[in-house]
Amino acid sequence: MNRDRFRFPEAPDAIKLYIIDAASKPIARYTVRSSNLNTSGFLLALLQDISNGSIQVPWNGSLPHFEMYWLWLISHQVKTTSELKRTITNNHTGGQRTMPGITTKEDYADLLRCWEIGLTFKDTCFMDMIASSIIDRLRAWAETTPSTSSPPFIYALLSELVRSIYSRSSPETPIRRLIVDAVAYFGRNGDFVHFASEVGYPMEFVKEVMLALGKRKEMLETLALGGGGQPKSILKQSSGGGAKVVRFGTEQQGGGGGSSDRVQKEVFAENECAYHLHTEVGAPCWRTSV
Ligand SMILES: [Zn+2]
Repeated sequence: MNRDRFRFPEAPDAIKLYIIDAASKPIARYTVRSSNLNTSGFLLALLQDISNGSIQVPWNGSLPHFEMYWLWLISHQVKTTSELKRTITNNHTGGQRTMPGITTKEDYADLLRCWEIGLTFKDTCFMDMIASSIIDRLRAWAETTPSTSSPPFIYALLSELVRSIYSRSSPETPIRRLIVDAVAYFGRNGDFVHFASEVGYPMEFVKEVMLALGKRKEMLETLALGGGGQPKSILKQSSGGGAKVVRFGTEQQGGGGGSSDRVQKEVFAENECAYHLHTEVGAPCWRTSV
């Protein structure tokens, strides 16, 4: 056993999680409080068979990937494996967004894997927080980067990862909506050529991107008409001749010069909860409940 994470050794409800591999061999041990498991249907079920203050948790992935989930359990924070390496937090801080720095394609791939981890542990709250974290990071990227480049998120969408998520989801699954909307919003021509031509991407993914592009085109035209009377592509507008900076989630069009005349409408994330699962089960959003 090469990992031994103790966090709340003196807590009266402390329990040990023994992580076991496919051969039922313990490969790590973590200590958490039983109340930390409240969002995981899978771990709560294992808790029914607690023995000597410990439960065995089957895990086929890598330990750094499990530790992303473990951090969520003890602190309700979302961090990728590289962020975890930099800062292992010891604080139980309640629901808290991790304000991101630079997010690489590896970070986005970790977050998308976290969605699958949430599925494995039956933790919709975690999955919703992952979606929010991706949205936060994309917004931060868009506010600082000209729209002439694709965000690292696009490059994280390797065919194997997309195929894996599509094999475990339906067209209505919020993470799929998030992926497809982000591709339609941020994708450049070369990205679409890649998704359409490389063997390995599910046909459903390509179709959903196409439908999202159509929807987006119509919305942009409606916005353009509402602002000045003549239909024109908002994306082709530039301010001062330079590259237009797309403010993620908001399209703005200068109407009569003053900011009060601007047409301003959410385009990507009309409502962040559209990318959350809690709406399907009538549960409150993590933003208010964690
Ligand atoms: Zn929500």
